[in-house]
Amino acid sequence: MNIWWIQRNIRIVDNRTLSAALHENNGLVPVFILNQKILENQHSISCKDRFLIPVLKSFDKELRLLGSKLIVRVGNPVEEIIKLAEECGANKIFTDADSHPDSIRIYQQLGEKIELIFGEHPCVFPFSAVSQKNGKPYQVFTPFSRAWKALPVNLDLQPSLKHLPPVPDLFSVPLPFLSSQDDFPSKESEAARRLKSFIEGPIYAYKESRNFLDQEGSSFLSPYFRWGLLSKRQALNAAFEAKQNTNDVVSKNNCESWIDEIIWNDFFQSILHFFPQVLHGAFRTSMQDIAWSDSAINLQAWKDGLTGYPVVDAGMRQLQNTGWMHNRARMITSSFLVKHLLINWQEGERWFFDLLIDGDPALNNGNWQWAAGTGTDAVPYFRIFNPILQGKKYDSHGKYIRKWIPELSDVPVRFIHTPWLMSSLDQKNCHVKIGSDYPLPIVDHGMAKIRALSVLSRR
Ligand SMILES: Cc1cc2nc3c(=O)[nH]c(=O)nc-3n(C[C@H](O)[C@H](O)[C@H](O)COP(=O)(O)OP(=O)(O)OC[C@H]3O[C@@H](n4cnc5c(N)ncnc54)[C@H](O)[C@@H]3O)c2cc1C
Repeated sequence: MNIWWIQRNIRIVDNRTLSAALHENNGLVPVFILNQKILENQHSISCKDRFLIPVLKSFDKELRLLGSKLIVRVGNPVEEIIKLAEECGANKIFTDADSHPDSIRIYQQLGEKIELIFGEHPCVFPFSAVSQKNGKPYQVFTPFSRAWKALPVNLDLQPSLKHLPPVPDLFSVPLPFLSSQDDFPSKESEAARRLKSFIEGPIYAYKESRNFLDQEGSSFLSPYFRWGLLSKRQALNAAFEAKQNTNDVVSKNNCESWIDEIIWNDFFQSILHFFPQVLHGAFRTSMQDIAWSDSAINLQAWKDGLTGYPVVDAGMRQLQNTGWMHNRARMITSSFLVKHLLINWQEGERWFFDLLIDGDPALNNGNWQWAAGTGTDAVPYFRIFNPILQGKKYDSHGKYIRKWIPELSDVPVRFIHTPWLMSSLDQKNCHVKIGSDYPLPIVDHGMAKIRALSVLSRR
């Protein structure tokens, strides 16, 4: 008997861990080890876990259609896997490799007790394949991407499966009842549907339209990548095909631009793998000791979407309400926390990770370090997003702002990015009192810019 320990690739289609396990022809027990905290805190469950639980349920259904089923256990993965192996007489564990240092520690401990075989990896290529000539890992995206693109991509998908070996009678922890979110249905077929509809149209305009806050220009696949409801190979296959299917150079560039984002995902996974210390501090050690502000009031205002800068607040409220945030808004809000409020990026990283439905340690950390200027390809310290101009450029009519900030729904376009400039009469006419219904800016943009330049340039 073999165990298929599912971690981040919760899918049946194109799963190399599953294929490797089936190759042995030795019986298979699929297991997912759930974190105890999820079951303990069912009342304050995060969006990520609210996405995961229905995914596991729907995955169990899919497995049953093929003659198998999912065993769920709760607790310490090493203890639970060993216990399960004893119960079913398994002597090999097939699993996915992860880049997080905690996972790597678990693999070491488990590997001392039982044979551990890895099928899927967090990146398209094994970590060592995309490295410099001297074997060292890349620390900057462009050469990483160049080396990635020079490798022969083996995008052969795994053959589809008609049945799976039956699972012996084993205890499985019942999962709590949680329905999936309307905007992110928790099932493998939804990932395939999204990919298909993105590839058939939006990918050809992706580079530009992904930036606009009031448009649906991106794929909305991030939670599905996070839990491996589709493989990067499936996504890349589809994107390469889309690129081939057009003769238009601009459309081809748009496809390429989406492929680049998948490579960014690989890049940050690789950074976490080779430099796990990034989870505890700045990638650039010279940026370690910045004199951050400890204003709990400003941090709370940022979290609550009450900074007085509409585009920042709309992003933060989208996050609070849905567990997802538009990429442009992630860039604007992260920059605002670090540069306008001078608050340590790690506070923002924690808040995003707790709330994001696609919260991924590698991607979240990489992007926060980018925003803070402490990371690999970081934004230079002197590039400070102006939240007013960003709003005007990427949400010119204020549609995104009005959606997430109902207090401002009647504010006319000319004031939607600067509501504090309205006269008392203007405010009365659009049913909002700035300073009480909606806050005045908690920091002045001009002053904040000078302060950030002065503090951050000392590094
Ligand atoms: C401060 C900050 C924190 C972030 N935290 C996360 C996170 O925890 N999890 C997460 O998945 N993304 C994170 N991102 C990256 C990005 O915002 C999301 O991946 C994207 O918005 C998801 O939407 P989509 O699936 O429609 O992406 P698309 O634009 O369609 O891109 C396709 C895929 O490419 C990858 N990708 C896209 N942008 C990036 C990027 N900047 N870095 C790395 N990979 C990328 C993702 O896997 C994404 O699903 C963060 C960005 C910022 C600025």
